[in-house]
Amino acid sequence: MDIVRSRFEVSPFNSVEGDGSYGVIAGGFSYSKLMKTLSYKLPRELGILHLTTFNPLPHDLIHTFLQEKESVLVLEESAPLIERAVREVAQRAGITLPICGRETGHVNWVGELFSPQIADSLNRFLSGLDLSTEGEDSRPRPSREPLCEGCPYVPVFEALMEVIEELGGRDEVVVVGDPGCMVRGQLPPYEIMDIKHSLGSSVGIASGIALSLNKNSGKKRVIALCGDSGFFHSGLAGLVDAARMKAPLLVMILDNGLTALSGGQPHPASLVDARGAPQRAADLVGMVRNTGVGEVWVVDLDRGEDIRSAIKKGMDTQGTGVIVARGRCPQWSRED
Ligand code: SF4
Repeated sequence: MDIVRSRFEVSPFNSVEGDGSYGVIAGGFSYSKLMKTLSYKLPRELGILHLTTFNPLPHDLIHTFLQEKESVLVLEESAPLIERAVREVAQRAGITLPICGRETGHVNWVGELFSPQIADSLNRFLSGLDLSTEGEDSRPRPSREPLCEGCPYVPVFEALMEVIEELGGRDEVVVVGDPGCMVRGQLPPYEIMDIKHSLGSSVGIASGIALSLNKNSGKKRVIALCGDSGFFHSGLAGLVDAARMKAPLLVMILDNGLTALSGGQPHPASLVDARGAPQRAADLVGMVRNTGVGEVWVVDLDRGEDIRSAIKKGMDTQGTGVIVARGRCPQWSRED
């Protein structure tokens, strides 16, 4: 790690801009959003350290940056990991300066950082800056667009909603979803999910809920919706645990053979690689079976196989059952 760190210390991917006495340390994509917030013009009071190599962090580079500053604001997504590391670097070096970020209340704990949030943080950090905190982020949001015409998710969601109605309605089930095109099912008319967290998390979260409800003699049925990319990302690990603990759970893997929401990129079970060349595809169904789950139903939606009866069987099964619903994505699947 020391060798890697020494290379990161001089990496061209980490850079310093401006020499103002107020520093902003921006991690990864936060830098692009920071510059957009500043309209790509750096106020003379600010200096920016743009970090793109995080593990191990370039301590000497951070140390040098801190030495020249009166105070520093750290912008990063998710947990304040860089912020804490910067504080540690300062403490070890005996540098005393305010280090602001999430832990000091200068950066929002909740939600993603966009221009309004970054402007608000900068205004609190540096008095007199007065950046506009108005305006919505204008980037495209495919997750807020409706499902495409001919989407294989449509018959799955329709059948699922019908079966849920037969079981007594939404109050009788808990549906845990994942990121990916299935979030479009959160728009009317389906509004399919009760819970959604991070990619691949649905199986693990649903498993915990199912075990907890079961322990408390709850009658609710728990369903995890997982895309094929999410399954390979980390859903598989959750399924291994669910199977081992015999979690009373129906897992529905919506398998369209690629990563649709972000632009049709391949995943390990795709038939072609990122360049479109044939690749040896991982056996998703084989992996599901090898976790030791109870029953597995594979439904080919393109052939009109009956997803509704598979869902009904899945709802009745004891332990962990899995439906793999396969259907071609008309938006991104290749013809050949
Ligand atoms: S991109 Fe594909 S999977 Fe996503 S909504 Fe459109 S058809 Fe469905």
